[in-house]
Amino acid sequence: MKQRLQKLIAAAGLASRRQAESWIAAGRVRVNGRVARLGEQADPSRDCIEIDGRPLPRREPPICILLNKPAGCLTTRRDPQGRPTVFDLVRDVPVRLFAVGRLDYNTEGLLLLTNDGALAHHLAHPRHEVDKTYLVRVRGRLTPQKIRQLESGVRLEDGMTAPARVRPGAQSGSHQWFEITIHEGRNRQVRRMCQAVGLPVSRLRRIRFAFLDLGDLAPGRWRKLSPQELVRLK
Ligand code: URA
Repeated sequence: MKQRLQKLIAAAGLASRRQAESWIAAGRVRVNGRVARLGEQADPSRDCIEIDGRPLPRREPPICILLNKPAGCLTTRRDPQGRPTVFDLVRDVPVRLFAVGRLDYNTEGLLLLTNDGALAHHLAHPRHEVDKTYLVRVRGRLTPQKIRQLESGVRLEDGMTAPARVRPGAQSGSHQWFEITIHEGRNRQVRRMCQAVGLPVSRLRRIRFAFLDLGDLAPGRWRKLSPQELVRLK
């Protein structure tokens, strides 16, 4: 399929689209041996695309990994303090992966990792309103009033939260479990929402992302999404 050259170059991970445009404008890109024009399209499976005389690397097939992130693990590639990261857990996967959003150091549960930077960006963007469900344990009681507050929106430093859904669960001693579904992805959002209604979080696990759940994956384990799951996710 034909696509704009700058899109193909960006998808290969070589540059941003804007940078790729400047390369095309500077005459550094050739299609089938001829200097490319800005706005030109090419088909990477038929055309020979070269940048500075080197062929555009073939795009790796897209993969997406569903990881059950354990607590005590960062969602960054490297940590100056040497703490474990989710990328240590997927070291055997021979491609460069991006995390779809983040889970806090102490949050457990479902985290997606993909080699498709555009997909990671798309799924993490609040505009796409992907539902994310968390199992939460808080200190205190989840009263009907607190449920209403959490569901209708809580005022945080960065503004009101969007409507959420809450499903109360079991009480144990001074703690209460419940599920909350949100579609935003602000920093530490669930912890801050609960804190704002007087319910400090003592445990947090993401159990669903869109239609995906953890199944019987143990903490620290991962599986590849099937091609069907990948298509549904896009
Ligand atoms: N909300 C939080 O507070 N933390 C997470 O890791 C994810 C959602």
